[in-house]
Amino acid sequence: MTRSLCFTVDVDRDVNIPLPGTLEAGSVDRGMGTAPRYSSSAEGLKILTDLLDEMGVNATYFVEGRTLLNIGGGMLAGREVGIHGMDHEDFTGIFPPGEKERIINESCENLEDMLGIRPVCSRMPYMKIPPDVPEILKRAGIKYDSSEYQPLNERMIPYSLSGLTEIPVPRGIDAGGKKIFGYLWPMHEGKRKPSDYAYMASKMEEGIFVLATHAWHMTERIEGGVMSEDSISANSENLRKTIEHFIDLGYETETIPQASHRFARTS
Ligand SMILES: [Zn+2]
Repeated sequence: MTRSLCFTVDVDRDVNIPLPGTLEAGSVDRGMGTAPRYSSSAEGLKILTDLLDEMGVNATYFVEGRTLLNIGGGMLAGREVGIHGMDHEDFTGIFPPGEKERIINESCENLEDMLGIRPVCSRMPYMKIPPDVPEILKRAGIKYDSSEYQPLNERMIPYSLSGLTEIPVPRGIDAGGKKIFGYLWPMHEGKRKPSDYAYMASKMEEGIFVLATHAWHMTERIEGGVMSEDSISANSENLRKTIEHFIDLGYETETIPQASHRFARTS
């Protein structure tokens, strides 16, 4: 039995929301409008990288271009970093001709300028990857994508998405029969426990389990705003326990490219 945990972090503008009439996302309005904010993402990324380094977890970071320009690349140096749009665009929206390709190329070039590496991984904002996008990603040099949800099975093996290697985020049901996703946001909001994700982890016997979170969610809640120091500590402790459950079950922690090499895709 071989199981891999790919821990993934979306590094994007704080509590991002689509804004009508523009391709660029905003941040949820906390009384000062919807202009994008980056401070929770920056603080959360520091907490996450410290925690993951201490635990020896090799994670994959999907970094939105504008956020990278705002928070700097220091915390991401030497890590596996992929793209996540330039301004957190919804790629299922209406774009002028050629604009999707321009934005994806700009995201890759920005990452190369800031971090000195050419990205090979992508996650599209809002987990939305329309049919024309895989070809554009491939032309930009992307090889691995993690923008789809798939039902949690005993075997979770990468598959081809128009030639890209797709490593999906699992969705399943919890011990009580309720829907649960490999995204940790309900735990950060106080609505799920680490043991809920351990239950999911126990249902996969071979392949890659993608767990996903957002950097900003380490320090800010959608409901309730910026967390107190005590809440931030409790939130980090929950994340530590969640990952420990996977490690206790024998999961190896790997980046998306590392795990994809081990589990060759089936189509
Ligand atoms: Zn995002």
